[in-house]
Formats: sequence, structure tokens, C-alpha cells
Amino acid sequence: MADTNQITMEKLISLAKRRGFIYPGSEIYGGMAGMYDFGPYGVELLNNLKRAWWKEYIQKRNDYVGLDSAIFKDPRVWEASGHLSSFSDPLSECKKCNTRIRVDKELGKIGVTADEKMSEADLNTLFSEHKTKIKCPKCNSSDFTPVRAFNLLVKTNMGDFTGKNEQPTYLPGEACQGIYLNFKNVVDTTRVKVPFGIAQIGKAFRNEISPRNFLFRTREMEQADTQYFVRPNENKEAYQKIKQERWSWYLKMGIKEENLRWKQHDNLVFYASDAWDIEYNFPSYGFDELEGIHDRTDYDLTQHMKYSGTDLNYTDPHTSGKYIPWILETSVGLGRMFLAFISDAYVEDELGGETRTVLKLAKELAPIKAAVFPLLKNKPELVAKARQIFDFLKEEMMCEWDDNGNIGKRYRRQDEIGTPYCVTIDFDTLENDTVTVRDRDTGEQERVAIKDLINFLK
Ligand code: ATP
Repeated sequence: MADTNQITMEKLISLAKRRGFIYPGSEIYGGMAGMYDFGPYGVELLNNLKRAWWKEYIQKRNDYVGLDSAIFKDPRVWEASGHLSSFSDPLSECKKCNTRIRVDKELGKIGVTADEKMSEADLNTLFSEHKTKIKCPKCNSSDFTPVRAFNLLVKTNMGDFTGKNEQPTYLPGEACQGIYLNFKNVVDTTRVKVPFGIAQIGKAFRNEISPRNFLFRTREMEQADTQYFVRPNENKEAYQKIKQERWSWYLKMGIKEENLRWKQHDNLVFYASDAWDIEYNFPSYGFDELEGIHDRTDYDLTQHMKYSGTDLNYTDPHTSGKYIPWILETSVGLGRMFLAFISDAYVEDELGGETRTVLKLAKELAPIKAAVFPLLKNKPELVAKARQIFDFLKEEMMCEWDDNGNIGKRYRRQDEIGTPYCVTIDFDTLENDTVTVRDRDTGEQERVAIKDLINFLK
């Protein structure tokens, strides 16, 4: 089986659309920048990723609890968190065609280190020095406006009935704030004791200057976050452990290790003690941030205590001493995770002398676990038997019925959506109650007794 893998972002986008994984948002109106919809197979894969992540923390661990906080929060939350004053990206516009660019990313492309945490003045100095080497992605000009810090929070008029919206509410710029807001509730109502973590999957919205690279940078996203609360100054060892756990999770879920690497942040926000990203080698543009793992000290709870006036100190059950726990955070966008997993699984290979595209997703993640085919759709006895098998398999796992076209074509369709097993009901089935099960990765087929089928597939 020759692997002729030449994956590009174009191929991935095309497969994702063609096979119902991802559709451009509002497509019938011409599309909307930075928005995507998950189609029938996409939503299955997305849910499986969420389930696998949730299982890791909530089902398998004793030191994590789950949460699902409201999207809308008191606007003071975003003041306390620093998002209102400093959640911005450096923006410049091409003077010729008005295309907006994100300056730190454009500087990065020509090898100049910059990030959104630098001051507007420093970014302007750096940009002026290197501007001639930066080209507008649309018209190729190097004539740009000065850099301005553009706040990414999305405003809403939720709860405003004056029509003036003088005190706007905001969509969350990051999902994790809900965890800080509920720290006290969780401590007061459950049996957790520091050190412990809270895990949450939640929506976040950012007015990204230039959404790009498919699901990599979108304006609406879902984030899977964990916040692990530790005693003050007991962060270092736990941080190393959490970093290792996240790395191992990707490997366990099937990501190839050569497509992952660590990157430490050069420029830390003032309160952070350390920050690393797990980067993934995305097709067509290479390594970039997949997940952030941050050692955030006591900043978040201290800020919310200050702005809300609520005491967020934790009382140590052994010493009765009080302290604000320090926080170790992991945060990954589900869209980026989805993109990394389908990129990693995408293979073009040769099977039985034919080239095919196959998504070699971990079985746990595959949208459809088994496809059921009657060998011929015009033989009622085969169809009836196949329906019977389909109906009992459906109770146990996501299955798909396909009786369209020859078996080879049906295999190709299932390969492209990553279905690990195809089950064919043929004339032998009617004789001896066995079916043919074909394996996605090897193409090998074996006869399995119907009574053993569920166990075999599981
Ligand atoms: P970047 O530098 O790429 O803008 P960030 O450092 O601002 O990302 P964080 O605020 O740390 O990102 O967010 C945590 C995670 O959320 C990121 O690692 C990424 O997986 C995801 N994420 C952030 N912004 C976006 C976005 N616009 N689209 C999709 N996912 C995102």
C-alpha cells in the first residue's frame, strides 16, 4: 500500500466541503469571513473530539469537575480581566486597497519577532523599520497606515432598551472567564480541594482583523479550557505535568508526534510566570499555535475579587489559612483541533492498484463507526437482512446505510469520511449468518458471525 501523501490546505478544504464536514458560513449569501458551519459528518467529529477531551478530565480524573457557564457575563468581567483595555491586535491598512493586515503576524512572516502584547509605539517603530519588506496580500503595495491597537471584543446590546447602548455587554473574548466567576460556587458546593481543576467547553468571539487559514482563525470559536488551581508557589511541578499530559493526549488520540512541537512565549504578560504553546504543523503553512498552556499565578482570581468585591480566598482545610489559588490554564480552540485532526488523518494512498483518499482518524473520533451495505439493492432478501443488521448496530454506534453504486464506490465514500469498518451483507449471509467486514486502513476483509459483530466492531 503506497502512501502518496501530498496534503495541502486546498485539498482539505475541498474534501471537507464535498463530504459534508465543513461549509462556509452563510454561503448562500456569498459567505461571511471567519465563519464556518459544521455539516453532518463535521458535527459528529466535533462532538467526538469534545467527548474524548471531556472523558479525559471529567470521566477519568478525580481532580477535575465540569462547568458550562453562560455566554453573557456582567460587563465588568471584561474590565477586570483586562480585555477591555488590552485585548487587541495591531492593525494596519493598505493605503491603496484598504486591505487590513495584522502587523505582528506579517512581521513574523519575514522573521521579525513581534506580538500583540507589545505597545502600539514599539510596534510602530518595528513596523516602520521593516515595512518595505511587507506586501499587501491583495495588491502587493507596501504603503500602509500607522499601526493601531484594535480591540477584539465583540459588543452587543443585550439588556439595553434605550437604543443608545452606552453600557454595552460583550460576547466572551475567551470562554475561561466563566470558570473564574464560578470558582467560589464550585468550592462551596462540591467536595473539591486545592489542587483541583475545572474543565469547560464554551463559545468565544473575536473581531479578528484577518480571519484566515480555514478553521485556524475564525471570528466565532469554541474553546476547551481547563483551569487548575494550586497553592501559591506550588505551580512549577504541576505546570510541567499538565504540559506533558496535553502532549500525551494528542499522541494518544492519533496525532503524529513529528507534527507537534513546543514553543515558549518570548513576551509574557506581566502577571504570567510561564507560557508555552503546542504547535501543529498545519498543511500549506506549517507550524502554528494549536493550544496554549499558561502559568497565570493568582492574577485572574485577584482581579475578580477586586472588581466584584467578593472574597475569593480559599480556606485551606488543613491549616485554615486563606489564600488566592494560582492558576494553570490549558486552552485550545475546537476548530484548530478539528483542523489538526483531519490534516493528520488525511492520506492519499494506493489500495488494490487504485488511488484513494482516506481519513485515518482514530476509531473513537470517526464520525461513522460502521457502514452497512446490502451487496445488491434489487434483491429484497439481502436488503431485508441488511436492514435488520443496520437496525441493531444503530442502537450501539453511529452507522450509515449505503446501497448506492458498486461496493468499490461505497468503500471509497466511506474511506473519505474515515469510517473504520464497512459491513457487507451478501448471499453467504443468508446461508450462514456471517457478514464481510472490511477494514478502512488495510482494505482487508474478513467474515464475522452476526452474533459477534458488535463485539468485533467495538
Ligand atoms: P493567536 O496568537 O493565534 O491569536 P492566542 O494566543 O490569542 O492565539 P489564546 O487567547 O491563548 O490564543 O486562545 C487559546 C486557544 O484558542 C488558542 O490556542 C487557539 O487554539 C484558540 N484560538 C484563539 N483564537 C482563535 C481564533 N481566532 N480562531 C480559532 N481558534 C482560536
